[in-house]
Amino acid sequence: MTRTAGFDRHSGSREMARRVSVGEVEPDHFLEEALARAREADSGTDALGIFLSLSRKGSGGGQVDGLLAGVPVAVKDNLCTRELPTTCASRILEGYLSPFEATVVRRLREAGGRVVGKTNMDEFAMGSSTENSGYRPTRNPRDSARVPGGSSGGSAAAVAAGIVPCAFGSDTGGSVRQPASFCGVVGIKPTYGRVSRYGLVAFASSLDQVGTFGATVEDATRLLQAVAGHDPRDSTSSERAVPDWLGALDSGVEGLTVGVPEEYFTDELDSEVDRVCREALERLREAGARIREISLPHTRYAVPTYYILAPAEASSNLARYDGVRYGVRAPEAESIEGVYEESRTRGFGEEVVRRIMLGTFALSAGYYDAYYGRAQKVRSLIAGDFERVWEAGVDVVFTPTSPTPAFRLGERTRDPVSMYLSDIYTVTANLAGIPGISLPVGAVEGLPVGGQFLAPMWEEARMLGAAHTLEALLEGTPPRGNEAGRNGGGR
Ligand code: GLN
Repeated sequence: MTRTAGFDRHSGSREMARRVSVGEVEPDHFLEEALARAREADSGTDALGIFLSLSRKGSGGGQVDGLLAGVPVAVKDNLCTRELPTTCASRILEGYLSPFEATVVRRLREAGGRVVGKTNMDEFAMGSSTENSGYRPTRNPRDSARVPGGSSGGSAAAVAAGIVPCAFGSDTGGSVRQPASFCGVVGIKPTYGRVSRYGLVAFASSLDQVGTFGATVEDATRLLQAVAGHDPRDSTSSERAVPDWLGALDSGVEGLTVGVPEEYFTDELDSEVDRVCREALERLREAGARIREISLPHTRYAVPTYYILAPAEASSNLARYDGVRYGVRAPEAESIEGVYEESRTRGFGEEVVRRIMLGTFALSAGYYDAYYGRAQKVRSLIAGDFERVWEAGVDVVFTPTSPTPAFRLGERTRDPVSMYLSDIYTVTANLAGIPGISLPVGAVEGLPVGGQFLAPMWEEARMLGAAHTLEALLEGTPPRGNEAGRNGGGR
């Protein structure tokens, strides 16, 4: 049975917006189609578990001439929306209705886009498989026995299942790029400060960035183009002008110097993923790019550094869920301490508790310098590695997005460290504040493999152009994994 119809690779969001703006179809035509597909994908015994809530028809407003006119978009459940709950897939925020809307959601609507629904995720974006959702896991549309990656697994799956051409995620340590690679779609993490975080529920504020998914590089770029740029409501958002990224997609790779870091092609890397990535590099070389071996020597400290800094920031950001100001309150508690304790014990899942404990420990008196202080220093060294490479004339860096293709549900839930290691190639970009993109570059046994481009801060254009070129070079080879599987038949 074909559960998802999929979108033509060459039309996607651009063609939808065109058809809506010339009046060929009703403004809510694609929204209604997407809602029907979403219901289908999430129903029955083999439900994919993609959405936590769905919009009602016609809730998008009347705009018909924006960049995203009538384009249905899925929104990760840690971005505040007024009409739908924002739960971060946590029980502690069950039913929470935000009184305000995230800037990216507002800009999406102003560009004519339609919110289809809120997508499943790892609770508070902590995880790499969407199995840490407080509600249900999401399954990978390419192979339903596998995870979609995380934490933005629902959004990646919504695109992979052909429900929407574009979706929002958030990327603190890889949560857009890693699920994009597992699901065979495109995921962009922009430069820190490029996109407003206003209305993004904070996980680790110095690392968090809203990112976009697309069926193609163009789809993901179109959504990013519509929402990027300064926002007075986020003091960390940059005042730099946003370039015409869509216009820069055809820049090509002729003369581009692509750095290939030896530290990302080691024994931890699955040998087939290695092969697929090297073939992609070969295509780039044939198209005129210069491929250069480089070294980013502090890479091996990235995961331990991230797992000090991110939990430290999380422990402070999550202090607000106390059953009083935010969160579901434990009804039977008899004292104020009891309210805090009971509400937090019931509301938070195991991984969130683990992070809060790790973070609180790292920040505690006597340990602060040894852990948090030191991790901050290593963070600068990691950023310095990239600085040196750019100064030496490298334009973009190319790496695998994740060391393996999508793993099976349940395979890593008992071993947090094995789960953390799936972020080994993605956390560096967050620590350094630089932009990254993952795109499908091939398949291993029917499972998609993602390749990642990284670029200097504010140089998204370069990275998007390189990705768009590689996508075209790989056209014809099946780069998205299992297209004829249980759900992919209609693609
Ligand atoms: N998987 C990483 C973590 O669990 C990254 C999550 C993210 O980017 N939100 O923290």
